[in-house]
Order: sequence, then C-alpha cells, then structure tokens
Amino acid sequence: MMRDKLTRQDAWGQLNRDWDLLIIGGGITGAGIFRMAAQAGLEVLLVEAKDFAYGTSSRSSKLVHGGFRYLYNRQYNVTFESVREREKLLREFHGLVTPLSFTIPNYASYGFPSSMLHAGIIIYDLIAPKWNHQRLSAEEIRGHFPAIRTDGLIKGFRYQDAVLDDARLVLREIREGIRSAGTALNYAKAECLLTTADGSVHGVVVSDQSGEGLPSVEVKAKAVVQATGPWSDVLRNQIGAPSRMRKQRGSHLIFPRERFPAPEAITLFHPQDQRAMFIIPWEGATIVGTTDIDHEHQLEEKYDEPFASRAEIDYMLDALAFLFPELALSEEDITSTFSGLRPIITSGAENPSKESRAHQIWNEKGLITITGGKLTTYQKMADQTLETAAAAAGLDLNENSLKPTGSPDYLVHNRDLDPQDYAYLCGRYGPDLNSLIQVMKNNDREHIEGLPNLWAEVRWAVRSDNIHHLDDLLLRRVRLGVLLPQGGRSALPRVREIVKEELGWDEKKWLKEKKAYLRTWQKYYSPDPG
Ligand SMILES: Cc1cc2nc3c(=O)[nH]c(=O)nc-3n(C[C@H](O)[C@H](O)[C@H](O)COP(=O)(O)OP(=O)(O)OC[C@H]3O[C@@H](n4cnc5c(N)ncnc54)[C@H](O)[C@@H]3O)c2cc1C
Repeated sequence: MMRDKLTRQDAWGQLNRDWDLLIIGGGITGAGIFRMAAQAGLEVLLVEAKDFAYGTSSRSSKLVHGGFRYLYNRQYNVTFESVREREKLLREFHGLVTPLSFTIPNYASYGFPSSMLHAGIIIYDLIAPKWNHQRLSAEEIRGHFPAIRTDGLIKGFRYQDAVLDDARLVLREIREGIRSAGTALNYAKAECLLTTADGSVHGVVVSDQSGEGLPSVEVKAKAVVQATGPWSDVLRNQIGAPSRMRKQRGSHLIFPRERFPAPEAITLFHPQDQRAMFIIPWEGATIVGTTDIDHEHQLEEKYDEPFASRAEIDYMLDALAFLFPELALSEEDITSTFSGLRPIITSGAENPSKESRAHQIWNEKGLITITGGKLTTYQKMADQTLETAAAAAGLDLNENSLKPTGSPDYLVHNRDLDPQDYAYLCGRYGPDLNSLIQVMKNNDREHIEGLPNLWAEVRWAVRSDNIHHLDDLLLRRVRLGVLLPQGGRSALPRVREIVKEELGWDEKKWLKEKKAYLRTWQKYYSPDPG
C-alpha cells in the first residue's frame, strides 16, 4: 500500500466493502488499468500477491519499442500499435521514457540483404510517423563501437526507439491511481474466486502475504479483472477455463560499462539461429538480452523466481564473442543476470519466438482477463480492459482526463540539485519529486557508488514507497542489486542506517532481511544463479 505502513491494517479492515472494480495483479497492465479506473471515478482496489512490479514488469529488456523484429515475423499489427504507443509514452513520461539510438550492423554471414533491413526501418519510421534513421558505413559503425567485428561487416543502419526503468513506470502509475482515490495493496494475494449461485465471478478471497498475520478477507466487486500476466491460467482454471498461457523465459546479462561500453544500443542477430538480440546502455551499465525459451524446467517448488540458466548465459556470451571478439567477454565480467516470463497466449507454434505478442481480453463467467501484449502497449491494453469491464458491469466512466500527470517542468529545477540529477529524478518520480526533495538529508544528494541514482531515492522509497522487504528496495525501487557488484554488498551498511532510521528495523530484523536478500540475489540474479 502506498500510505505509510501503519495504515495497512486500516486499509485491510476496509477491504470487505463493495468495490466497483477489483484488479488482481500489480504489474504494468494492472497498474495502468488501476490509474485509469481511479481517474474515471470508480471505487477501485488493486491487489498484488508480492511486490508491485515483482513479475515480468521489472524484468523486461527496458525498451519502449515498436518491436522491429515483429515486422520480420509478420506481426504488423503489433509493430504498428507499439510504434504509436512509444511516441505517446515519450511525451507523457518525459525523462522516464527516453529516446535511444540503435545501430543495426549487417554482416555477410546473416544472409539478409541490406535492402531488406532498410525496408523494415523505413516502414518503422513511416508508422511513427517521423524520418529518423540513417545508413551507416562499416567505418562509421567502427567509429561508434571501436571493438566491433569488422570481418564480414557490410554496412548498417541507425534507427530510434526508447528506453525506461520498467518498475519505476509501474510505481508511477500505481501512485497516480492512489492520488485519484484508488486503493492498492502489495503482498495481498487473490487466493480463490468467489462466485454467485449462477456461477458468475463477483469477488475473491484475499490473503495477507506481508507476514503481518492479517486475516484473509472476502472482497466483492461489480467487476473483477485479472492482469496477472504469465500466471493468468491459475484463477481461470478455478472456473473451468482451459489453460492458454505459454510461459517463455527471457534472460539478460548486465555488464559494467567500463568493461563493456555501449554508447548507444545495438540490434544484433545471434550467429547460431539468427534470433534478434539487443545490447542496451541502461542506468550506467550495459544490458545484453534476451533469450526466448519455454520455462517448464524451472517450475519446481524450489524456485520462486526465474533465472538465467548456464546454457542461456553461454548462448548470450557466444553472441558477444561473435560481435565483439576483441573484448573477450566472459562470465567473470558479468555483474548480474535477470530473467522474466513472457505472458504469451499460445498458438502451439514450435518455435517460441514465433508466438504472437498481441494481447487478448476474455470475459469468462464474469472474470475479465487481460493478458499477452507488451509493456509498450500497456495503456492501450488498460483502456480496452476498462471499457470491457465497464460495459459488462454497467459502470459509468468519467473519461474527462484519462492520462498521467506527466513529469514536472525540467527548466524550473531545484537549486540544491545538479540539473542533470534533477532531470533524472523528474522522470522517475514525476509529481512525487517535491516530496522526495523534502525528505532529503544533506548527504542524500550523493550518488550511490557511481550510479545515476541518489541516496535520496533510497530514503524516500523506504519512507513512502511501500517497502516490505529489502529486495523490494534493492531490486525494484532502485536497482543497485543488479547494477552494483555482488548484489550491492558494499552499499548495504548505508542502506542499513536508512532503513533503521526510517522504518525502525532492529538489528535482528535487518540481519534476517539481509540474509534473505543475499540468498535471493545469489540464486536468481548472480552470474552463477540457480
Ligand atoms: C525477457 C522479457 C523482455 C521483455 N522486454 C520487453 C521490452 O523491452 N519492451 C516491452 O514493451 N515489453 C517487453 N516484454 C514484455 C513485457 O515485459 C510484459 O508484457 C509486461 O511486463 C507484462 O506485464 P503484466 O502486468 O501483464 O504482467 P506482470 O508484470 O507479470 O504482472 C503480473 C502480476 O500479477 C501478480 N499476481 C499473479 N497472481 C496473482 C494473484 N493470485 N493475486 C495477486 N497478484 C497476482 C504477479 O505477482 C505479478 O506482479 C518483455 C518480457 C520479457 C519476459
């Protein structure tokens, strides 16, 4: 919940009233629906089983993009919708969603005529519509990426997409919904559906997962929406609906920029199977991703989170060995790894990469499920879901101002902050920036060990952004857990001081949280996971 911790119990006590809309799932899809529903004047409750953005929405490749490769898979509608949505998000979340140039080098071994790549890029620009690409010679590419393979490099192109911190976007949407009088609870799991005598879904039993021991509650609503991404089949199966999801894992590697510098992003094709992959400069580091494989073998009880397997790490290192042989990148150079599960609606395609990324909405006995899709298209998905729910339950929507508040004006910057830091914080915190500045203590203006983040973000998150566990703070509110070596061990003493001061954790609680966090990091995010 977004108010202070003491009021979680109060909010819990009010769960059993009649809601207009109940949303299950606090990823980007649920968060988008939540904000829009609250702005439309509905009495709306969102419940998230773990932390906000715990699922796929903190584990994406961080791109707001049209999905250039979907053109080659003939998923034209996905690309069309995504490019349009990218342009909207760049305007609405100025500073959080930022433009990013991509170089796409073409090698003789790819077997693609350059004219084919060029045609794709032209279509991409025509959809936006903006003319924003260039041809690059092999020399120009080498000028940007001095260590890139030149052997077989024919030429290349540069085109534009955008990058973001995915978890921060989720939090911005959730907080905006709360400002419009919505209620959102993390660590609140929808356990089982409640149905009327005729079998229609009209609520769920919600259990407390925070460890505070709050009693389970029956929550009823005129409309029940689930936005549980890859977990969509679990509640659907309770009303006899057949499974439709195919969990596809995508993993990433993070390298320190000093070891693997990427002044701009690269789209590459893996030498083994020609799958498109990305190298992305992000938050002062370099991300490489992703893989695309069926997730079954990690579904055992002992694994709570997906992680990059040995084979996936080797596969990605192989791609880097092809593209940057001079750098000789190896496992020792990796700072961390992370994996997410794509919510894919299966068509039974043999090759996971060929499955459609389009979203679908189903109304099954009153349970409205929104799934599939991409982070880039979440607003469109949210809008359609809200309309479906309103029509099904006869809800009136006040649609006067259904859009996010946006980021504060960059030019009116706070004199106490470096203008670059101010611009960075504007994007990440939007209308909450003033409250973040107010809680700052003197040395909170310092950067966290060379990251773009300030210590002030840690203090503010601990005080106001509903932290229950250390991993909420270090893996989703700020990302020092994946951006610093060893899960950010060196920063932990200062984090300890802040959580003790702001949350009143005693030493016993701190040690318990630290141990659990480091175990999670080692198992799911370290270069030697599993
Ligand atoms: C590797 C990878 C890379 C990607 N890269 C990109 C990209 O660069 N750009 C892009 O646009 N898209 C990308 N995507 C797709 C995008 O990340 C997802 O489409 C999007 O994040 C899905 O959001 P969601 O809210 O639907 O699901 P999720 O983010 O998974 O949220 C679902 C939430 O529901 C919760 N939940 C589940 N069951 C319950 C329950 N019973 N009660 C309460 N809560 C529950 C979960 O804990 C979870 O937090 C990528 C996906 C992957 C896997």
